Amino acid sequence: MDFSTYLKEYPSADGRFGKYGGAYLPEKLIPAFKEIAEAYLTICHSSQFVSELRRIRREFQGRPTPVYHCERLSRKLGHCQIYLKREDLNHTGAHKLNHCMGEGLLAKFLGKKRIIAETGAGQHGVALATAAAFFGLDCTIYMGEVDIAKQAPNVARMKVLGAKVVPVTSGLKTLKEAVDAAFEDYLQNYEDTIYCIGSAVGPHPFPMMVRDFQTVVGIEAREQFVEMMGFLPDVVTACVGGGSNAIGMFVPFLNDPVEIVGVEPLGRGQKTGDHAASMTFGSEGVMHGFDSIMLKDGEGNPAPVYSVASGLDYPSVGPEHAFLREADRVKYDSVTDEEAIDAFFKLSRYEGIIPALESAHAVAYAMRRAKEKGVGSILVNLSGRGDKDLDYVIEHYGTGENYRD
Ligand SMILES: *Cc1c(COP(=O)(O)O)cnc(C)c1O
Repeated sequence: MDFSTYLKEYPSADGRFGKYGGAYLPEKLIPAFKEIAEAYLTICHSSQFVSELRRIRREFQGRPTPVYHCERLSRKLGHCQIYLKREDLNHTGAHKLNHCMGEGLLAKFLGKKRIIAETGAGQHGVALATAAAFFGLDCTIYMGEVDIAKQAPNVARMKVLGAKVVPVTSGLKTLKEAVDAAFEDYLQNYEDTIYCIGSAVGPHPFPMMVRDFQTVVGIEAREQFVEMMGFLPDVVTACVGGGSNAIGMFVPFLNDPVEIVGVEPLGRGQKTGDHAASMTFGSEGVMHGFDSIMLKDGEGNPAPVYSVASGLDYPSVGPEHAFLREADRVKYDSVTDEEAIDAFFKLSRYEGIIPALESAHAVAYAMRRAKEKGVGSILVNLSGRGDKDLDYVIEHYGTGENYRD
């Protein structure tokens, strides 16, 4: 496949990446998503939108984030060099704000007064509440009652930022029910509201929009790496939950002679069934309004999934990832909880960077490959910082005192 014209060709006008993607929606919501798609395709080319987004990236988010060479960590593994794209230094501590600010700006350009979303662990809710505060938009976040109890600091953050957090009490009271509640709200209110999806998933145009807003990561990283080193990295890698930080990192490298690898959470291992490695063990299907690779239970419904990193436990993956694997351009591999925790402590101890548990999966993969390769260079998207995970890690794994120099 020729990747020099990739962004012009994918997705197709109806939101397809090959056979994946599309928009599977209740009749009543078809016009609302069509409106967003058409508006986005017009607005994203307007110089006013582009320059406003650029200003926000620079002045509010603190972009560009740096690329950092992990000298000590690399030395411990051999001669292969590991580099990090520091999305942990993006405002609010992760990459999610990159697409939330884009979605907020789009809402503003469309004259909408309100943005809504669902959230699981609360990371997307916090990023969207931040965007809403910046743009002066009303914000409602749907969150399962069970998740609200588990994620008190994020719930407090959303409220301090001015968002309304609505507890969802139906079913298992977690993410799936929160998605349903947010869709229901959107159905009633789409005239003045935009529904903002939290990853490169969902019905068209979200996989495309979120991808486009996240490509700032890969564009910056590619330029910075080449400026620093004078050549391209051998391997580019990122963790994959829904796939937004990964797709943003990968797309600008598609036309380069670079190996690209997405890293999925293998949780407690394949045998236990406690994982969320959708690409590795899943099959094609439709859920949450799009066609992709997914993990199904016996009845063909989304399977219950697990990862130590709550941002990675999603039973499907963005349709563009399914397509890029089929096109033989991107590979997918997986990392267990145990490997991710090991990388969490090593990056903290040897580099002074506490990674998010999600990002620690990508670091763990880079460490494994660095040992195998012995030479060359690996560029990792460090999608977020680990402050949010500290209490959990300390309770279950201690402070890593056995990691010594
Ligand atoms: C949410 C989250 C992820 C997973 O989401 P993607 O859409 O797959 O990028 C990864 N890392 C961090 C830090 C997150 O907060």
